[in-house]
Formats: sequence, C-alpha cells, structure tokens
Amino acid sequence: MAPDSALRLCANVHAVGLQLLVFDKGPLVTDSTLPVCPQCGMDHTYPDGELLICPDCAHEWSAHAPASDEDSGPRIIKDAHGTPLADGDSVLLIKDLKVKGSSTVIKKGSKVKGIRLVYDNGDHDVDCKTDQGQFILKSEFLKKA
Ligand SMILES: [Zn+2]
Repeated sequence: MAPDSALRLCANVHAVGLQLLVFDKGPLVTDSTLPVCPQCGMDHTYPDGELLICPDCAHEWSAHAPASDEDSGPRIIKDAHGTPLADGDSVLLIKDLKVKGSSTVIKKGSKVKGIRLVYDNGDHDVDCKTDQGQFILKSEFLKKA
C-alpha cells in the first residue's frame, strides 16, 4: 500500500511540474507580443536584430520606433532646427551653398521667399527661387525665417 501511494504522489508532482514548465515557457515562444505589419497588417512578424520583418510583404521596420510617419502620409520636411517647412515659407540659408556645375555661390544668410517643397527628389527637397536663379536645395541647410 505504502509504495503504491508514494508512486502516485510522485506522478502527480511530476505532472504539475511539467505544466508549470510549459506555462513558464509559453510567453517566450509565442509571437503575440510582436506588432502586426504596419504595411499589410499580417501578424507573422519576426524579429531580426534591431528590425522587425514581415514575411508576407517583406516590409522591414525598426522594433524601437513606432510605425514611423515616414511611411504613412506625406513626409514632413524640416529645416536645420527641426521646424517643419511648408510651401510659401520664407527661409534663410545657414551656410554658403555652391551651385553644382557653376561658379555661383548662394551666400549664407540669403533669404528665399515662397519656397516650394519637393517630395520626390531625395534630400534636395526645397525649391527656392533666388536672385541667382531657381535651385533645389537641401532643407538641412535652411532655416525658417
Ligand atoms: Zn507585411
């Protein structure tokens, strides 16, 4: 009698221990804590170093930044100090800019009125009409006036 009940007790303890083990490991193996893909909305996201990757549409994004607003809606073009620029703003140059392929230099401090933002030209993103002509300049060299 005694050996038999001891065996059952042992089996019960073993079973409970196993369940606890599985429960403890659960959160580590599930992907439910990863965000869904901001591009296609699928939830097959997996981490790869600093990035999260969606196998469904191959979108990659940073695990640390929330779905960035660069991907959704128009890009915000900012001046050298991070102030958002808008069409029609006036800006000042914060450094001399040499115009490629010419000897023209647009001087630091030059004021440009009525800029136009350009979204499809890389980092040359501000269309400026100056006394010396029309140029597309980098917003990082401009300061909102
Ligand atoms: Zn996706």
